[in-house]
Amino acid sequence: MPTYNYKCKDCGRRFSLELTLAEKESCQPECPDCQSCNVFQTFNRVGVLGGSKSGGVSGCSASSCPSSCRSCD
Ligand SMILES: [Zn+2]
Repeated sequence: MPTYNYKCKDCGRRFSLELTLAEKESCQPECPDCQSCNVFQTFNRVGVLGGSKSGGVSGCSASSCPSSCRSCD
């Protein structure tokens, strides 16, 4: 099952969800912290324009990070 990475625009929380394509299409993800629907999908392999995050290494790789991981906070 593919893992999708999201970031909450309201509180800045990053989280990952394992969703089937059908689930992804039918469900609007919610932030696990503030339950906001104001989240957007992030992509690991796409460079960030402006470079503020490029090359940055945080706690763990988001692609392999389970939603329960706390080191991404
Ligand atoms: Zn949030």
